[in-house]
Amino acid sequence: MTAVQAGASPAPASASETHAHVTCPFCGLRCDDLEIARSGQALKVTRNGCDKAKAGFERPLKAAQPRIGGRPASLDEAVAAAAALIKGARLPAFGGLATDVDGMRAIMSIADKARGVVDHAFSEAQGRNFKVLQTSGYFMTTMTEARNRADLFIIASDVHTFHPRFFERVVCNEKSMFADPAPKRTIVFVGEGYDTSAATGPRMGDVITLNCPMDQVGEVVSALRTLKKGAPLPADAIAGVPKAQLEDLLARCHAADYGVIVWVPPGLDFPNADLTVHQFCEFVKDMNVTQRFAGLSLGGNEGASTAASVCAWQSGYPLRVSYESGAPKYDPDLYAIPKLIASKQTDCLIWLSSFTDSLAPPVTDIPTIVLGTHDLKLAKEPDVYIPVGTPGIDHKGQLVRCDSVVSLPLRDLGRGAGLARTVDVLAALEAAL
Ligand code: SF4
Repeated sequence: MTAVQAGASPAPASASETHAHVTCPFCGLRCDDLEIARSGQALKVTRNGCDKAKAGFERPLKAAQPRIGGRPASLDEAVAAAAALIKGARLPAFGGLATDVDGMRAIMSIADKARGVVDHAFSEAQGRNFKVLQTSGYFMTTMTEARNRADLFIIASDVHTFHPRFFERVVCNEKSMFADPAPKRTIVFVGEGYDTSAATGPRMGDVITLNCPMDQVGEVVSALRTLKKGAPLPADAIAGVPKAQLEDLLARCHAADYGVIVWVPPGLDFPNADLTVHQFCEFVKDMNVTQRFAGLSLGGNEGASTAASVCAWQSGYPLRVSYESGAPKYDPDLYAIPKLIASKQTDCLIWLSSFTDSLAPPVTDIPTIVLGTHDLKLAKEPDVYIPVGTPGIDHKGQLVRCDSVVSLPLRDLGRGAGLARTVDVLAALEAAL
């Protein structure tokens, strides 16, 4: 491999340019309406976007080169050193997995060849949904359906913090495909500590908050299910929410033409949160006996929904898959990389982080190889570090949206950083095994 890799733009094609309709890779919403201006190697979000997008696109480009044990090395030397570590490992663990579709396909291939384990950094959160899908199934909608049809949103996580433009693009949109003028919407926040500031504008009807501890949101929804069945509640308030408020919310659900309950799996960060997701999904089923209602799960930041989708396409299983036996085996507990590191079952960590500067590998004593952004903040120098480009900035790519129904094309914004594509580095690594 040469210093400038296939697929990576070698130098800015022009001094400056403006890109319209850019897809943002920095959260699972994949907003595709950004305008990005490039001046030399500097990027600026000039239309649409959010603070998270600005933080991602506008990071100054730092000079980065491969390192072995902290010392500068050529890319070929770094690939050879990384391949030697993987070849010598009994059970290599491929983690982080913040990459695009091509990068994830390459990970599945090399993990198969090296007989390793694959596990995304956010698998624990995504698993809250997968457990429900596997055990009882769910009834979900898409961002487009919700944007155009929903007249009642129950917001059951701090959506605005995880996805800053969700309200702008899906809830507060002034126009709808099916009604002109578009009707008002009712927004009900269930939980505590949410940023509710984005629930504004002409589409907003009633905006209501049912305050309760996050780990009791499931109890509140369970109480709605009880009322829906016509059974009595065991108390005058559930998780601090008065019975009258619960009855009012159920009446609003019955009056809605299209209700949607929205959650972010990483926002349900407490033990056994899959049981909370289960309550959401069972409530949706209960409501569908009499009317239209659906779930909408967000998340998918750092390429999580892409990694989950590609893993399912390639192996037939959701994430946390091991190729140790020569065939893919799925176990969300056994193949959790944090556990494999703690129990010393893995003896080599290969960490992928190609979007932000913050998704660093855990600090560990086992040999660690990092394919990371030019500015990845590392708490400990890895054995091998190879800088890679960011899909959607340094090269083209594809990312799956958080509702898993579409993958969006990513652009090369032409800043000419000369950073290798993850897929090319992994192909070279696999060839060297
Ligand atoms: S909401 Fe997410 S996808 Fe949209 S611009 Fe912000 S970070 Fe990017």
